[in-house]
Amino acid sequence: MHEMSLISSLLDMVEKEAKKKGFKKVKAVWLKAGSLAAVEPEALSFCFDALSAGTILEGAKLELIPEAGVAFCKKCNKEVSILRYGEPCPECKSYGLKIISGSSVFIDKMEVE
Ligand SMILES: [Zn+2]
Repeated sequence: MHEMSLISSLLDMVEKEAKKKGFKKVKAVWLKAGSLAAVEPEALSFCFDALSAGTILEGAKLELIPEAGVAFCKKCNKEVSILRYGEPCPECKSYGLKIISGSSVFIDKMEVE
């Protein structure tokens, strides 16, 4: 499952951060989830609950912040928003957009103790 490996690498990152900065507990995590990352919010929180057990993130609240995908259209010569990979430009309907952002999931902020 795509979400499983995603969450597990996020947990690794947070644990490393915790060691570096010396916090012992994470109370809440806000994740920015790009619409092109193709993650299911339900699957993501399920994996988070399953994998965070016994870590400093156990019981932490997980909040998802959806982020629209941004691509560059050569024909329109500007940035446009898209929801999925392989979608045409919403304005001129041409294909071959260059993805700029929205294809990843990352930690936006954390509340720690
Ligand atoms: Zn266009």
